[in-house]
Amino acid sequence: MEKIGKILVISAHPDDPELSCGGSIAKWTAEGKEVIYIICTDGNKGSKDLEMNPYQLAALREREQEAAAQLLGVQRVIFLRHHDGELEVNSILKVELALLIRYIKPDLVITHDPWRPYLIHPDHRAVGIAVTDAIVAARDHLFFPAFLAIGLDAHRPKSIYYTFPEKPDIIVDITEFIEIKLRAIAQHSTQIETIPDWQERIKQMGARFGEKECLAYAEIFKQVEL
Ligand SMILES: [Zn+2]
Repeated sequence: MEKIGKILVISAHPDDPELSCGGSIAKWTAEGKEVIYIICTDGNKGSKDLEMNPYQLAALREREQEAAAQLLGVQRVIFLRHHDGELEVNSILKVELALLIRYIKPDLVITHDPWRPYLIHPDHRAVGIAVTDAIVAARDHLFFPAFLAIGLDAHRPKSIYYTFPEKPDIIVDITEFIEIKLRAIAQHSTQIETIPDWQERIKQMGARFGEKECLAYAEIFKQVEL
């Protein structure tokens, strides 16, 4: 992680970054690294409240995401505002992501592990695949010639970290950052208000991920070097 200066977290929904790696993000920004988010959907289907409408929900969730990101020291949040649950691995999404990767020039890209078995949310699978494809298109200059024409040169991130992986090989100690992770997740009121024991569940998950390395709390990733 020493050579990593800029980190780009690309997630399907508002709340995914905090749930999957909020402790690591707090740790990295405290070390002076720059973290930027891209949130692909507006999260407009993530509610069990029968009075809620999708427009109101999308607006609320952007505000929740901004507040959570600010707490963790994230520099910028970019919202792509696709409809929740409807993402596909198509050219539009790949162009958007490749363009932003070339523009932002991250050293590390973090996204969903699309190869985890029984990963049922379609947006998580789509984002994981689209980000992986977009990294190749950002890296190789002959993809999307229009980018070169407007000065967006090819960019190769050093590695990808996949979140909630089947076979983790990176374990980040977040013991000092579990409280701020919980506070960041708490900003997503629309998502957690119906889950009374959410804090306990997050702590149990962190403890389980840390067990092998005798850490109180951890987050895990699968690294792919480029
Ligand atoms: Zn999600």
